[in-house]
Amino acid sequence: MNDRTLLAGRDPLVFAGSPLDRGDLLRRDEGALADLLTGDDGWWLGLVDGDPVLQQSGGLFWFRRSEIAGLADLQTGLFLGHYKGSPCFAAVINKPDSLPLDGEITPARQAAMALSHDEAAIYAQAKALFAWHARNGFCAACGQPTRVKSGGARRACEACESEHFPRVDPVVIMLALDGDRCLLGRQESWPEGVWSALAGFVEPAETLEEACARELEEEAGVKADIAAIRYVMGQPWPFPSSLMIGLVAPVLDASLTIDTHELEQARWFSRDEVREMLATRHPEAVMPPSIAIARRLAELWADELI
Ligand SMILES: [Zn+2]
Repeated sequence: MNDRTLLAGRDPLVFAGSPLDRGDLLRRDEGALADLLTGDDGWWLGLVDGDPVLQQSGGLFWFRRSEIAGLADLQTGLFLGHYKGSPCFAAVINKPDSLPLDGEITPARQAAMALSHDEAAIYAQAKALFAWHARNGFCAACGQPTRVKSGGARRACEACESEHFPRVDPVVIMLALDGDRCLLGRQESWPEGVWSALAGFVEPAETLEEACARELEEEAGVKADIAAIRYVMGQPWPFPSSLMIGLVAPVLDASLTIDTHELEQARWFSRDEVREMLATRHPEAVMPPSIAIARRLAELWADELI
């Protein structure tokens, strides 16, 4: 079993598969980067409160620097990498009312469904990076201001010489399996009828398997067979900076004790029920949309690939 097998006939997961060359060597040359940043050869992506600007056709609106110079915060322009040979940057647009041409600010999740896989992945990088920079203007070690370095791949504090790197927060998301049944749960805040895989953040000093087993026990009271937990695939999730780590987790004891602070409900679904949910034929339950890794895990399990 490998990614190639799991992808057979399927699109990559949304936000995964970035086509960018992130330009590690170029990032070490501050002078060359500054020339690119201030020149007009690159293509720029504008974000408004984290949302992208799309063309009427549904693709990202790429600007030349000169087109957004008066609209955007170019002081914190981030170098994303090279795409099809051209340098790509991202900037926060401060004056969205003045957007040129017919660009349309589109909510992030809606945009992700509309974009090509290449552009969704590029946008995810820009969104996650800006979210991190927005929260790290001051040094966590000494409280003094930090400055963007390496085109946005890190920040540096001159006062205490600390370096700060963008965070990625690992989240395990797992299909617990009991033979021909899988465990799904739902939270009160979700749209009616939506059921999904259980998930939770990895905590300090935990392996992925340990985090998976702990979450299953805390939220649903089921005991996973740690040695049998397997990685399936991952997905960047820029809300704001998660990495979803998809797992399957056979259980040793399938009896449920639901933590109602975390979940409204959880129950075992047969493989046939999951197939009905995926086909929107189940009388009361549906899976999350295709943007979600939980749906992909369910599809792979329904097809008996994992
Ligand atoms: Zn400092």
